[in-house]
Amino acid sequence: MEQLIENKLIKADLAFSGWKKVSFEERQGLIRKAAEILKNNSEKFGTIITTEMNKPISQSIAEVEKCALMMNYYADAENILKPEKIDSEFTYSEVHYAPKGVILGVMPWNFPFWQVLRFAVPAILAGNTVVLKHASICFGSGNAIEQVLLEAGFPEGVFQNLEVGHKEVKGILEHDVVKGVSLTGSGKAGGEVASIAGLNIKKSLLELGGSDAFIIFEDADLDKASKEGVKSRLQNCGQTCTAAKRFIIDEKIEDEFLPKFIEEYKKYIPTDPMNKETLIGGMARPDLADDLENQFKKALENGAEIIIPLERISDTEFNPGLIRVQEGNPILQEELFGPLGMIMTFKNDDEALQMANDIPFGLSNSVWTNNKDRQLFFIENLESGTVNINRMTSSDPRFPFGGTKASGYGTELSLHALKEFVTAKTIVGN
Ligand code: NAP
Repeated sequence: MEQLIENKLIKADLAFSGWKKVSFEERQGLIRKAAEILKNNSEKFGTIITTEMNKPISQSIAEVEKCALMMNYYADAENILKPEKIDSEFTYSEVHYAPKGVILGVMPWNFPFWQVLRFAVPAILAGNTVVLKHASICFGSGNAIEQVLLEAGFPEGVFQNLEVGHKEVKGILEHDVVKGVSLTGSGKAGGEVASIAGLNIKKSLLELGGSDAFIIFEDADLDKASKEGVKSRLQNCGQTCTAAKRFIIDEKIEDEFLPKFIEEYKKYIPTDPMNKETLIGGMARPDLADDLENQFKKALENGAEIIIPLERISDTEFNPGLIRVQEGNPILQEELFGPLGMIMTFKNDDEALQMANDIPFGLSNSVWTNNKDRQLFFIENLESGTVNINRMTSSDPRFPFGGTKASGYGTELSLHALKEFVTAKTIVGN
C-alpha cells in the first residue's frame, strides 16, 4: 500500500481515539454546521457533481440540499446510543454502544454527495471515523465533502477522502485499523468487497442494484402515476438504484395509461446538463452507455418489442427508450441502469405480485391503487426493503433504507443507521 494511504489510515485511527470521547451533542453541532455550509453553497457543489457525472444541474443542486436536510435530521436526532439499563439481579446491568473505529466507505458516482454522506454522517455521529474510496470519476466530490467537514470544525482525520482506484480496496480493508466497510454499488463489487470483509471478520453493509416495479391498477390516479413513473425512471438519466425500472400495468387500463405515459416520456430530451431547465443529460461514462445499448439489443433478441426506440445521440446521450417485455425474457433478471424502461401487463393481483417479485433484487417497489385491501396485500407480499403506496420512491432521512435479496443488506438513514457500526457491549455483574 502506498505510504500516503497508510498514513491516512493511521491518522483516521488516531482521530478515532479522540472522537469517540466527544459527546453525541457536540458531534451533532458540527453536523449542523456542515449542513449549513452545504445548503449555502448548493450551487457550487452541484456544479462539481454535474461536471463529474453529467447529472442535470437542478438535480445536482437538489441532491446537495437533500444532504443538508438529512444532516439536520441527524443534528436533531434523539441519542439512541446512550447507555441502556436492563432490569436484572446484578448491580451492573447495562448495554453501551461502542463505536467500532475506522470505517471504509466504497461509494458510487450516481449520487456523489448523497451516497457518501448518507453512510458517513450516522457512522461519524456514532463515534467512528471514516475513510472514503469514492468512484474514480468523483474524486472532486470526495475532496469537497472532506473540505466541508473540516470547515465545519470536525477534527482532522474524522473524514478523509483517499483518491484510490478499486484495486486498492482489498489492502485498505485488510488493514488492522479498518473495522468495517459500507459499499454502495454493483452486486459484483459488493460481493467481492463483502468476501474480503468476511475473510477478515469485519462488518459489511451493502447497498446494491435494483429493478423496482411500479405497479399500476385501474383505480389509481393515472395522470399522477404517469408523471411520477416517468420521473422515477428517467431522473438522473435513469441511473438511480431505486428507479422504477419495470412498469407493471393492469391490462384493463393499458390503452388509457400508456399514451399518457409516452407523452410524458417524450418530454425527456437530452440537452446541456448545466442548463437549469434540463430534465435529462448524458450518462456518466461512455462505457456505461455501451452497456445499456447492449442490454437493449439483448432484450430485443429475446422477444422484447419497441414502444419508443432507445436512440444513441452521442457518446453518453440517448433519446430514452421504452420496451414491452414478456415474462421469461432474461433481461428481466438484469438491472437497466440508464434511460430504458420496461412495460409488462397483468390480468389480476396475483399475477402482478408474481411478476414484481420474480427478479433477483428487492429495493423499493411502488404500488398505485386506492383499494385498501389490495394495498395491504402488496405491503405484506412485495419482497423489497421499501413499499411505496401511490408515490414514487424517494428516500427520506426519517425512514430506514436498505435492500433485500441481491440488493444488499444493512440499513441506512433513520435512527437505525446509528447502530450499524457500533458494538452493543454488555456490562454485567456485581
Ligand atoms: P460499481 O462499479 O460497483 O462502483 C461502486 C464503487 O465500487 C466505486 O467506488 C468503484 O470504484 C468500486 N468498485 C468497483 N469494483 C470494485 C471491486 N471489485 N472491489 C472494490 N471496489 C470496487 O458501481 P457503479 O457503477 O459506480 O454504481 C452503479 C451501481 O450502484 C448500480 O448497480 C446501482 O443500482 C447501485 N447503487 C445502489 C444504491 C443503493 O442504495 N442500493 C445506490 C446507488 C447505486 P471504481 O470507480 O474505482 O471502479
